[in-house]
Amino acid sequence: MSEKILICEDEENIVSFLKAELEYEGFATDVAYDGEEAMQKFDTEYALVLLDIMLPKKNGLECLREIRKISETVPVLILTARKEVYDKVAFLSAGADDYVTKPFDTMELVARIKRHIKRSRPSENFIINAEAYSAKINGKELHLTKTEFEILNFLHSNTDKVKTRDEIINAVFGDFYGESNIVDANIKNIRAKIAQITDAHLIETVRGKGYVIRHV
Ligand code: CA
Repeated sequence: MSEKILICEDEENIVSFLKAELEYEGFATDVAYDGEEAMQKFDTEYALVLLDIMLPKKNGLECLREIRKISETVPVLILTARKEVYDKVAFLSAGADDYVTKPFDTMELVARIKRHIKRSRPSENFIINAEAYSAKINGKELHLTKTEFEILNFLHSNTDKVKTRDEIINAVFGDFYGESNIVDANIKNIRAKIAQITDAHLIETVRGKGYVIRHV
């Protein structure tokens, strides 16, 4: 599954340039043409956000502050025009990761995007041994129940693929006919156990779809 970048920019020619370049580099893209649309679209599924400063309806700084209330880790790169006067300190203290000046040097832009995405990904050492029913993070054993282990193992063996609650139930419980919230309850427990070892969010919720463990 390719990593998805949210482009928040109101200038059509810049949007089409960015879209083309990023898709050429193998990224998926979504576009928001104003700040309100940006906030409607933003979620933690995005690998990175490109955020123009001067956006209609809601400006870049307001968007950045809202994004940071939802996620402290999704990298946000601010798009600035060379002549634009803006308060760099305000953006940095609101949690911007970097600046890119228009017009873009494509190679530099892509290099920066990749670097920020890589840096934002947890580099945890996660080892799962299905035969031993053992899952370790950074050398520490996760003490999981059988069901929790099987859910984690299923997601792990399907790394980068979003699995729905039904798929997880079928894989783990077989013919068991249960409430799909049994999955949510178990995921919650697994996350709590992971949280005792690391801050990394190993299992991602994909809103309206299910869960995924992404390749790190
Ligand atoms: Ca603009």
